[in-house]
Amino acid sequence: MDQIKKFVIEFFKNLKCSVSLDGEVLVVENVPKSFEDLFGKESPYRLGFESGTGAIFVGKGSSLLAAMTKYLEGAGKTTLLKIDFDVDPEKEISKVLSLKNCEISNLVKKHKNNFFSRFTFMTTFRYLNESEQIVNEIYVHNGEVVDGDLGGYNVVEGDSDLSSGEHIGGDYDIAKVFLKGALQDKTSEISKVLGDKVEKEIERINLHYGNLLGELGGDLNGQLEKVKKLELELRMAEDSEKDGLRIRLDRLRKGLVKVGDDNARDKILKEQKFTVKDAMHKHSLGIDNKLVNTTVIYYPVFTFNLLLKGDGTSGRYIDMIYDPLTKSLNQVDCEGCGTRLNVLNLCSGGHICCGNCLRKCGECCEQFCVKCLTRSCSCCGKALCKNCSRMCLGCGKNVCENHMRVDCVSGEDRCVNCLRACMRCHGLSSPKFFGEAMDGSKVCQKCLGAERRGKVVESIFRDRN
Ligand SMILES: [Zn+2]
Ligand SMILES: [Zn+2]
Ligand SMILES: [Zn+2]
Ligand SMILES: [Zn+2]
Ligand SMILES: [Zn+2]
Ligand SMILES: [Zn+2]
Repeated sequence: MDQIKKFVIEFFKNLKCSVSLDGEVLVVENVPKSFEDLFGKESPYRLGFESGTGAIFVGKGSSLLAAMTKYLEGAGKTTLLKIDFDVDPEKEISKVLSLKNCEISNLVKKHKNNFFSRFTFMTTFRYLNESEQIVNEIYVHNGEVVDGDLGGYNVVEGDSDLSSGEHIGGDYDIAKVFLKGALQDKTSEISKVLGDKVEKEIERINLHYGNLLGELGGDLNGQLEKVKKLELELRMAEDSEKDGLRIRLDRLRKGLVKVGDDNARDKILKEQKFTVKDAMHKHSLGIDNKLVNTTVIYYPVFTFNLLLKGDGTSGRYIDMIYDPLTKSLNQVDCEGCGTRLNVLNLCSGGHICCGNCLRKCGECCEQFCVKCLTRSCSCCGKALCKNCSRMCLGCGKNVCENHMRVDCVSGEDRCVNCLRACMRCHGLSSPKFFGEAMDGSKVCQKCLGAERRGKVVESIFRDRN
């Protein structure tokens, strides 16, 4: 009964009628004229699934079901439906992700349509004098059969301009294979009942023809004996038994004529064969699958394009894809270590990372991910961002601002490891700029030069005197 009710509701919904329940009675309004004409009654319809409700009875053999069947035979049209979703991106995002050191500064919601097909099959099982109908609805999405139910969704008429029918052919083949599997249980159940019945029937037929052949065969004398015995019985029998005995006697006499007659034997065997074949045919199962409706259903799959911004960062765009049907939002992974993020951090270099992968630059104190913070000072070891690290042209290593000095001789920047202190002027300079002073100490070239100039000046003065 539920099957029928479901079928009726689905049928009228597909016809875009408004369907509602008034207690046990199904009220159907706005029925297309084409159906009203076929059924011969004007809508609204009040339909009852139990007899005696005062409504139009719907059940096996009812005129409404007959009209529906007839209508469907003419309607192979594809219906297009759209599932409407009202989605709040920020709400969906906040369910899977919290933003630690940044916020969404801009969000653009785009969508693409995702299509699936629904095939409604009406299967009729015909056997003996019965006919049983089953409705199956099969949903196919991305080449796979999926559990589908549009109940609870806001379904509206689709936009027929969309080119959406390209997958239907392939989907239909998939649905047909699935249908066969879905009917397997029912098919084998009926087949078993029929098989048992036909087995008994054939047994009965074979017994019957076996008897006939038995009467044909046998020895002539035995048969004559039987005839004589029956004739005697007939003479002495009560009137009420006479008819029966006469028939048996008659058959036996005819049998006498037939004894040894191969033609008669062949005839019986032929008849037996035919009767068995007929019994098997009567007990066969006819399955008829009819595609009553094809519906293409589509719904939007959203892409949320977010611009994340933290303090002093230039920002970072990320795309998150949200499927409202499966309620799934694609997850974001840490760009440092690859773990799935529940809490999102934005590094000043624009990377997305987990709390473990977020470090501070020892110089500017801004937050960076491990990918950005690869440099460190070769003198003090503090982690350095790209902006804060400086390269010593002497040794090629990275150093912090504090450990980079000016060579007092060449005026070039060098790290403190590449410089040596001059004991005379206390300046720093590359060891190659050191030389021996007159007192034997190693001093920088600046001090050496001063010493030499002092000598020259001294001699000038001495010459003048
Ligand atoms: Zn990480
Ligand atoms: Zn820095
Ligand atoms: Zn980074
Ligand atoms: Zn340093
Ligand atoms: Zn250096
Ligand atoms: Zn010096």
